[in-house]
Amino acid sequence: MGTPVNIIVGSHVWAEDPALTWIDGQVTKINGQQAEVQRSDGKKVVTNLSKLYPKDMEAPAGGVDDMTKLSYLHEPGVLQNLKSRYELNEIYTYTGNILIAINPFQKLPHLYNPHMMQQYKGAPFGELSPHVFAVADVAYRAMVNERKSNSILVSGESGAGKTETTKMLMQYLAFLGGRAATEGRTVEQQVLESNPVLEAFGNAKTVRNNNSSRFGKFVEIQFDKQGRISGAAIRTYLLERSRVCQISDPERNYHCFYLLCAAPKEEIDKYKLENPKSFHYLNQSKCFELVGTSDAQEYLATRRAMDIVGISKTEQEAIFRVVAAILHLGNIDFGKGKEIDSSVPKDEKAKFHLKMAAELLMCDPVALEDALCKRVMITPEEVIKRSLDPLSAVISRDGLAKTIYSRLFDWLVNKINNSIGQDSNSNSLIGVLDIYGFECFKNNSFEQFCINFTNEKLQQHFNQHVFKMEQEEYTKEAIDWSYIEFVDNQDVLDLIEKKPGGIINLLDEACMFPKSTHETFSNKLYQTFKNNKRFVKPKLSRTDFTILHYAGEACNTELSFNAGCSLSKQTSNLMFNKFQVQYQSDQFLDKNKDYVVPEHQDLLGASKCSFVAGLFPPIPEETSKSSKFSSIGSRFKLQLQQLMETLNAMEPHYIRCVKPNNLLKPSVFENANIMQQLRCGGVLEAIRISCAGYPTRRPFFEFINRFGLLAPNVLDGNYDEKVACTKILEKKGLKGFQIGKTKVFLRAGQMAELDARRTEV
Ligand code: ATP
Ligand code: MG
Repeated sequence: MGTPVNIIVGSHVWAEDPALTWIDGQVTKINGQQAEVQRSDGKKVVTNLSKLYPKDMEAPAGGVDDMTKLSYLHEPGVLQNLKSRYELNEIYTYTGNILIAINPFQKLPHLYNPHMMQQYKGAPFGELSPHVFAVADVAYRAMVNERKSNSILVSGESGAGKTETTKMLMQYLAFLGGRAATEGRTVEQQVLESNPVLEAFGNAKTVRNNNSSRFGKFVEIQFDKQGRISGAAIRTYLLERSRVCQISDPERNYHCFYLLCAAPKEEIDKYKLENPKSFHYLNQSKCFELVGTSDAQEYLATRRAMDIVGISKTEQEAIFRVVAAILHLGNIDFGKGKEIDSSVPKDEKAKFHLKMAAELLMCDPVALEDALCKRVMITPEEVIKRSLDPLSAVISRDGLAKTIYSRLFDWLVNKINNSIGQDSNSNSLIGVLDIYGFECFKNNSFEQFCINFTNEKLQQHFNQHVFKMEQEEYTKEAIDWSYIEFVDNQDVLDLIEKKPGGIINLLDEACMFPKSTHETFSNKLYQTFKNNKRFVKPKLSRTDFTILHYAGEACNTELSFNAGCSLSKQTSNLMFNKFQVQYQSDQFLDKNKDYVVPEHQDLLGASKCSFVAGLFPPIPEETSKSSKFSSIGSRFKLQLQQLMETLNAMEPHYIRCVKPNNLLKPSVFENANIMQQLRCGGVLEAIRISCAGYPTRRPFFEFINRFGLLAPNVLDGNYDEKVACTKILEKKGLKGFQIGKTKVFLRAGQMAELDARRTEV
């Protein structure tokens, strides 16, 4: 690769540092490939030249509001820019038309008040400081003017601020597309109030976020010809069901359970509720309260929001009755029954909760007990009732709780959609996507698999779009871009979703064979993907499998010209592990099966409460026989396919949320952590794609102002700007640059090279 030509003795540089990622300094000596650097923290280090990045000494102190304005586009430059802005509470920065939003972890009301909304309304993009409102405004204008649907895709890891951002976007769109205040509920009010309702039932405190969304969400806001909101549709994805029965300290279950336990006294009495500490589904964790919020107030607020979105009082009563029933259900413990391997409610307390659960669900208590403790076996000769042992009864109970809860959640989404109403005449939409980001934990199960699959899909959409935008800019300036390569992640997607033969497909097959175990499933994967570059069988496990996800690709691809734009291999290898996600297959089969035990179906389908019975509509005879299970993975794949189709017909806008620290505290900017997210979120990928072409563009006059002194005689020659620029570049022996119609297009690193020459003059 040769010595970077842009680093000489005296150059200001960024040097890698294990703790800080990068630290600035000045080159004091160069000896072959080795450079001695005097760092700003006083240390002197010797390092390989290829690990140094030129530091732009002319970068403004407060940073630039668009990364593409950086003269040197490389990782340390990007990070430094975000950092200097964050210190000034400038949490938003553009990278071209991607908005990066760094969570402030503190209220910044001045950023979001009505006055701000007014200012952004109709302001040309880029004129005001970067902002979510600016993104929403562009999307709205494009929709009104071009009659084309637009989407805003909000991504980032848990706690990065996706949901808050989404709410701000919706608020701004409601401001633009709202009607003058009228009597009763307006569509936009209903759209906005759907948020607290869904949050009460679909959000929970996790270690990473006190208000973590445990489902994905795509809200499609419909507008009429005058650009006013005329309807909305909410689609949700993959609610985390396991949380209903299983939580670990210091997390919480879904908010609604705690809200209900803090309801006014007459409701508590009616549902025989007590302190959350007395319920098994809540007391597996020691955390019951959320600092800074009052569950009692939230309960009332949720009720008000439910009124606004159009959930009737009777329905609300039924909803909370079901929530209470789930809590009681969780307290039914089982002990051994008289017969071998049978079970019964353990004691008086268990019996009480059983009675309460049955009462609230309005079903027969004996039937409930049977549904929990027994299974009906139909043989050609007779129908036998088989008992379950206490452990199986607990599994049966938890299964029932999870099914009821997820059906309740789906009911809410459906109800909200019906009540807001769809404007079938509208062909102008703005879709807002708030969906989980890439996940990699110590243990990764089916949920992480689906979440990371989603991210692969979105990544592909993103790459294609960023690439297309680049091409458009080049075309506009009549620049040749034919050789720019584009790395695709189709191979990862094939591995996961290809039919036949992808992982989801093999999982479904495994679920259909009664004798399958996670071992047989894993073996099948090992055989099938023996030679797949994206698939690895971990050495120390017999059932785990590893997928090499795309998210980190950007940092593992060393560009052929590392000078000014390098996403270096060395740094990335430190982080690379995060993109090799090792999945534990042991629960994949169970979690993929959306199977409601017929006994549970019959029990609740027969409830005297029409609301409860409505959650369990009769299954048509044929489907119940033909397919024993319905696959969650395949259904999710289909949902994603539909989402991608919708998104492909829309003009996308991207917002990448970044979580600056894991302490959830203001003013703490963790370099390595943030860098990692920029890589995963495709921000660096976007930069990489742009680096592969001509990342630095300067209008002719700016270029001449900065570099005219490199060739003073050119300026004396009375050439026109375009010719003068070419002459300067040629005189300095640069190759590969292009001259567009209004701008000079430089290859990565060439700007730094020219700057270095300038200091020589
Ligand atoms: P998850 O994937 O877990 O749902 P998320 O990305 O949706 O996470 P949010 O719930 O939006 O994260 O944000 C987490 C917390 O960060 C919020 O509860 C809020 O306290 C804070 N926060 C996020 N964005 C902002 C903002 N723009 N201004 C002030 N606080 C914010
Ligand atoms: Mg969220």
